[in-house]
Amino acid sequence: MTRLGIYVQVPFCQTKCTYCNFHTGVVSAARFAPYAEAVCREIRGHRELLEAAGVDWPGRLRHRHGAPLESKGETPGTDLIVDTVYFGGGTPSLLDAAHLQKILEAIREGFATELAEVTLEADPETIEAEKAGAWVRAGINRVSFGLQSFVDKELVAAGRMHRRGDIYRAVPILREVGIFNISFDLIAGLPHQTKESWRQSLEELQALGPEHVSIYLLEIDEGSRLGSELLRGGGRYSAGAVPSEDEMAEFYETAQRELRAAGYHHYEISNWAKPGFESKHNLKYWRREAYLGFGAGAHSFSGTQRWANAHDAAAYVSAVQGGGLPVEQQEKLTAESALEEELFLGLRQLDGIDLGRIEREYGVTLASRFDPLMVAGLVERDGGVVRLATNRLAVSNEVFVELMK
Ligand code: SF4
Repeated sequence: MTRLGIYVQVPFCQTKCTYCNFHTGVVSAARFAPYAEAVCREIRGHRELLEAAGVDWPGRLRHRHGAPLESKGETPGTDLIVDTVYFGGGTPSLLDAAHLQKILEAIREGFATELAEVTLEADPETIEAEKAGAWVRAGINRVSFGLQSFVDKELVAAGRMHRRGDIYRAVPILREVGIFNISFDLIAGLPHQTKESWRQSLEELQALGPEHVSIYLLEIDEGSRLGSELLRGGGRYSAGAVPSEDEMAEFYETAQRELRAAGYHHYEISNWAKPGFESKHNLKYWRREAYLGFGAGAHSFSGTQRWANAHDAAAYVSAVQGGGLPVEQQEKLTAESALEEELFLGLRQLDGIDLGRIEREYGVTLASRFDPLMVAGLVERDGGVVRLATNRLAVSNEVFVELMK
């Protein structure tokens, strides 16, 4: 039996955060219903749509290490159980609860399901008791909050819609309606962040006791207004108040210490969880397990092939309404690119990678590739397991660059 994750992309936001480089848009609420309808239609017709688009799904689904289902004595396409659903964005909590419910109904109709984890990304200012109650009735059991900071000055500079007070209003509402798995995101490196304000955010986060925490370092990307200002200059988005890379690394390391002391298990470079609350859905990405993405810009992975829908929401809706599927990118993985993914995604997990397994499955010898990284103190070896050195997690990109050389 293959456990499958489903990702649903909702590419709408109330405003554009200054650091955001995602394909999301600020659109009229009148566009939400046709979008949700298109997603339902894509889900219900996914087999035919993917076949018509030339994607290897579902008849030729492979296990994550490339062995066809047929060779394992399983019937392709009929042994899939969807056990995780993730509504991401964008801001999926902007949709009416009825839209989310219809999408979940389409998933239950289109797949065999045993839904252990159904996550909704939400912004605190969008939380209302009635809406949250309807989410729970629809089957949502995990909420991932894009908090980013508990400091209003930082939230204002980042162009976020919520303020600190919204967080304190939203969390009790979710607890009251029965959401007992809440994740908080923080960003290390927002404009005006200081050592003291970062500590304040960490302390307030711990006091609220989320089951899961994600901490991201600010990405400097010219696709965002803040990133562009950082690279080209200007004074509109507070680029001059962005902490240095060394400060960001220090913030990350402070979080590592504090969250460990508070009983969180650090299981992936950017993710911590109370025992048993690791994200089941996101673990599929890092373990290279199969998932299907629905909606504009959603990505999918069959085990041997990756593909993505068109990013433009209007183009996506009109293509699905016309009976087609705008697959924008398709990539059949070569053995070499699959191996690179194994190393890159495996090292993101703090459990590290089992060299013996990968060497057997890919017919390669890896020890010589890791030796220089061990000498440089970038990775550590424990028997057959290699993992990133704990004091290099904040600069993991540098390690990956060395590894891929
Ligand atoms: S809420 Fe998220 S997706 Fe939307 S603009 Fe802000 S960072 Fe981007």
